[in-house]
Amino acid sequence: MSARRDRILAEIGVRPLWRLRQREAPAPAPAAVPGAVSGPPARRAADDRELEFDDRAARIARMEWPALRTAVAACEACGLCRTRTNTVFGVGDERAEWMMVGEAPGAEEDARGEPFVGQAGRLLDSMLAAVALRRGENVYIANVLKCRPPGNRNPEPFEVAQCSPHLVRQVELIGPKLILAMGRAAAQFLLNTDASIASLRGRLFRYQGVTTIVTYHPAYLLRNLPDKAKAWEDLCFARATMKDLKAAAAPQS
Ligand code: URA
Repeated sequence: MSARRDRILAEIGVRPLWRLRQREAPAPAPAAVPGAVSGPPARRAADDRELEFDDRAARIARMEWPALRTAVAACEACGLCRTRTNTVFGVGDERAEWMMVGEAPGAEEDARGEPFVGQAGRLLDSMLAAVALRRGENVYIANVLKCRPPGNRNPEPFEVAQCSPHLVRQVELIGPKLILAMGRAAAQFLLNTDASIASLRGRLFRYQGVTTIVTYHPAYLLRNLPDKAKAWEDLCFARATMKDLKAAAAPQS
């Protein structure tokens, strides 16, 4: 092992002593959002709102990168637009094989308009380096929410519902081979589950047809140092999975 790799592993607080967990069969993709609207008149207002939402989501689903960037920058679909400094669209290689999905911008991200540039971001960069990845090179980093929730509170369901069509479209445009869902909010949204990170780790899921792996959020790891070892395990699992995916996609000789 090179000195550089040793340094990186020391920085993220782990040593390569962990074995990969056994892989499990891919889980079924989350159920599609129902589109049909029916029911008694009392439900009409709610149905109208749902139609409006579906219409907006459908428009976002057709956007190319420039329109999507503009839509995020101008978005006023939830109250976070009133407290944000900048929207945080996402950053990286638009043809990346790896996609990292976090929760929402924090204070530094809000100030700079780029995801994961604070303390948690520095840890993320170190984690990426540990598996020979680098921000912007075959990696795309995005969040479920594009605006900072005040005081870094958890995203609210309405905010996720309004904002997530942007992430859905980013995934479609990028077409990554593997998504790493970092933390509860990302796992909840991508896998449509309330399950704990601990119970989701070490398994393969599919989101929009993309292989998805769950790990702890870097900010959580900063507060729970012993779990860095588990995050390292997850990264090794992700790296091995990527290798398998590429081997499976390679033309047979
Ligand atoms: N936490 C996140 O989930 N995303 C960021 O961009 C920064 C911190």
